[in-house]
Amino acid sequence: MPQVKAYGAQSAEAPIAPLTIERRSVGASDVSIDILYCGICHSDIHFVRNEWHNANYPAVPGHEIVGRVTAIGDSVSKHKVGDLVGIGCLVDSCRVCAPCQEGEEQFCEKGGTGTYMGIEKQTGQPTNGGYSKAIVVDQDFVLRVPSKLKPEEAAPLLCAGITTYSPLRHWKVGPGQKVGVVGLGGLGHMGVKFARALGAHVVLFTTSKSKVEDAKRVGAHEVVVSSDREQMKAHANSFHFILSTVAASHDLNPYVNLLRRNATLCLVGAPEHPNKPASEFSLIGGRRSVAGSPIGGIAETQEMLDFCAEHNIAPDIEMIAMPDVNKAYERVLKSDVRYRFVIDMATL
Ligand code: NAP
Ligand code: ZN
Ligand code: ZN
Repeated sequence: MPQVKAYGAQSAEAPIAPLTIERRSVGASDVSIDILYCGICHSDIHFVRNEWHNANYPAVPGHEIVGRVTAIGDSVSKHKVGDLVGIGCLVDSCRVCAPCQEGEEQFCEKGGTGTYMGIEKQTGQPTNGGYSKAIVVDQDFVLRVPSKLKPEEAAPLLCAGITTYSPLRHWKVGPGQKVGVVGLGGLGHMGVKFARALGAHVVLFTTSKSKVEDAKRVGAHEVVVSSDREQMKAHANSFHFILSTVAASHDLNPYVNLLRRNATLCLVGAPEHPNKPASEFSLIGGRRSVAGSPIGGIAETQEMLDFCAEHNIAPDIEMIAMPDVNKAYERVLKSDVRYRFVIDMATL
């Protein structure tokens, strides 16, 4: 099996450092991809530091991958050599359960195969993510990157993009609605852009006073500093939908209290420690819901990429060289990412 250069962690306490991994040989329905760019998702940090208690080591993160096809298997019809393509959080699923049949592979009843944190069906080995030179993926889990998108800006769409687009679509966010986004990080800034493009009145909640102007530039109609009780109170009972992207555990009640009757707070943040749950009385009083949402299916991810091309939507990225990944992680942990780090794989 081909050996490729990669970066990963040897333990929960170790920094990200160079190593070598194996990629499987290209099978009949496989596409081999030379990785050009990989975004840094906060999930990469949760994973390598074993905050979700399911890491495998060496841990090679990265699930916001854009690259060029270098080889295809005999039965591949969806992609050809030279195509610009993307890989998100999933590289396979069972394909036969109801969610898979209905194009919602993120809910595969057998558990889809993660780009990292998964077990590769073909080899029985743990999967390795995109902080690497190349990857081999079944054609059905490879996305087409529209030519209107810059490759480096397309990378974060593969996780931050779809994870915010999918719930906004599921809960039918649109004109005439007041929609909140909590946290202006990688996911949050995409949530603001999508909610705005879908026609909602968008309010961004932040803990960082320094992000107020940025949030407006990114597309928020209003910005609330969540520590300001008066500002929070002014929005009580007024939201049709709130999407929370917060990466650390926090109290859900201040946000639940902002929901209108019948409205939903959807969590996409997956912190190491549990959030303080919503009070039963706040939920009962307004028939309010607290929900969650994971990434999105393959078809919906393609739809999101095409939507970005059509509406000129792109993340705000800061490009880094591979050896600077540990410094970038520290900045993400300080909520100091503006608003997605992307690794230039030419520097690997
Ligand atoms: P990120 O770039 O670090 O953004 C998270 C934002 O949360 C920060 O920028 C900050 O925004 C806010 N925040 C951080 N600590 C906070 C605290 N203690 N209290 C309140 N707000 C806080 O992370 P990301 O990459 O967007 O990921 C966000 C979360 O979603 C992570 O937990 C990640 O694992 C998870 N995730 C889930 C899925 C899914 O499928 N559901 C997919 C991808 C990622 P402000 O400075 O504006 O307050
Ligand atoms: Zn992610
Ligand atoms: Zn399935």
